[in-house]
Amino acid sequence: MTPTDDRFDVAIIGLGPVGGALANILGAYGIRTVVLERRPAAYHLPRAVAFDDEIMRIFQSLGLSDQMAGITAVGEGVDFVDADGNVLVTWPRPKVLSPNGWYVNYRFHQPALEQVLRDGMARYPHVSVRPGSEVTNIGQDSRGVTLTVAGNGGSGVGVVRAAFVVGCDGANSFTRQAMGAEIDDLGFNEPWVVVDLMLEEERADLTPQSIHHCDPARSATYVFIGAGRRRWEFRLRPEDDPAAITEPENVWRLLSNWITPDEAELERAVVYTFRSAVAMSWRRGRVMIAGDAAHLMPPFMGQGMCAGIRDAFNLGWKLDRVINRGAALDLLDTYQSERDAHVRAFIELTVQMGRVINTTADALAAGNVVELGEGRQEISQLRPALGPGLKAGTSAVTGHLFPQPRLPSGERLDDRIGGRWALIVGNEHRNSVPAGVAGRAREEGIAVIAEESPELREWFESSGLAAVVLRPDRYILGGVADIKDVGSLIDWR
Ligand SMILES: Cc1cc2nc3c(=O)[nH]c(=O)nc-3n(C[C@H](O)[C@H](O)[C@H](O)COP(=O)(O)OP(=O)(O)OC[C@H]3O[C@@H](n4cnc5c(N)ncnc54)[C@H](O)[C@@H]3O)c2cc1C
Repeated sequence: MTPTDDRFDVAIIGLGPVGGALANILGAYGIRTVVLERRPAAYHLPRAVAFDDEIMRIFQSLGLSDQMAGITAVGEGVDFVDADGNVLVTWPRPKVLSPNGWYVNYRFHQPALEQVLRDGMARYPHVSVRPGSEVTNIGQDSRGVTLTVAGNGGSGVGVVRAAFVVGCDGANSFTRQAMGAEIDDLGFNEPWVVVDLMLEEERADLTPQSIHHCDPARSATYVFIGAGRRRWEFRLRPEDDPAAITEPENVWRLLSNWITPDEAELERAVVYTFRSAVAMSWRRGRVMIAGDAAHLMPPFMGQGMCAGIRDAFNLGWKLDRVINRGAALDLLDTYQSERDAHVRAFIELTVQMGRVINTTADALAAGNVVELGEGRQEISQLRPALGPGLKAGTSAVTGHLFPQPRLPSGERLDDRIGGRWALIVGNEHRNSVPAGVAGRAREEGIAVIAEESPELREWFESSGLAAVVLRPDRYILGGVADIKDVGSLIDWR
């Protein structure tokens, strides 16, 4: 063993998309971070293909939205059709900017996305990456965490010491096991074969619209990834041999309704078990988990990675407050309580989608689903609130994501706020903020936004509020209906 005396604020275990996003977030806060990744090089095959407007908004906060826009295509809707081609459920993704200021769906090739995150991390000299470093033991005391690292970037077995550790180490998370966290198995457990293809030539009928073929005989999904790339996913039947089904001749047989070998190159075919599960504990002392390590869902909504990146954005600013600003460790308790309820809402809907795909018989039952008549349903973007956690006051909007309008200068709201908290004052109340409150907020580093904007005006009118305070992750800490009470929102912090 070659012990090192490395000391970091945070060690991230695993450099998938969630570890990469967290490293960028911590880097922006100046937090000394090491990322330990057991693979010697980036994983070259994709899993995730879609992310939503909230995630692009997070990338914007990380200064990476231009780069992400360069590697993505705006996605279109999803239809669920029965074996006769009748549409059962439709999930339109209109090409208009959402309240978050971005489109509701982006398509991408995962290795390209991960490269943007890696390049982003390289902006920060205090963030380092050690490929070829597998964490094999985790021990903690009252002051920090000690990791045993096999490979250790090529230097044998090493020891890394960090004040905090976040395991972003995927579905079979070693960190989760080392924490002794139980799994809440939510019941979905199905093997599917995932087939990625490179088209020889674009085919007009293979549109950007994704399609779930709800056929009890063989459920299948067609997915647009981007120019020249397409994916099909097929549910395994009990009689299928999982090893044989990925043989090229069997894969082409599955694809034969849609495409032939002379039209595309088979990039890979692999069996994944789609699962729904949430870890019962996301933190033990100074060790936490995020992403697939903390929760799993089938990919029918394209939300697994998105949920992990939301974890990172929730946790990042809390770690900043604990590490750099003297906040108590129990602030970190709100990480699981807020995120667990949010991710379960996505898991519940995606599992319902899986049932529709497999049986065509069940209908979706969720707040964001409307009946279109004749047995058809339409889904809109799911936007659940955070679970119980930080809040000031009793406003109904607490825990919801605040929209991102453009300000009169043309600037996007989040670009003005940066990594700070923000006090947003409704147009009607701009001149009634009690003396000293705005000054006090600015002294405490809180962005104060009190500007005329049609979108802000509309939002405040419909919420009945005079002012709100946003956390650095753009979720609403609380709001007041009477501007005279606005000081209480600032005092809370
Ligand atoms: C077919 C399919 C389609 C999907 N489509 C979408 C989609 O469209 N949109 C979406 O949002 N999500 C989608 N998902 C889910 C998404 O792929 C995952 O949620 C996401 O990749 C999880 O990221 P992660 O960083 O948490 O974990 P991972 O990507 O699994 O990364 C974990 C990393 O940790 C490393 N590691 C593990 N153990 C150790 C250790 N002991 N020491 C050091 N390193 C370690 C691993 O090598 C790996 O690099 C899809 C999933 C599948 C299977």
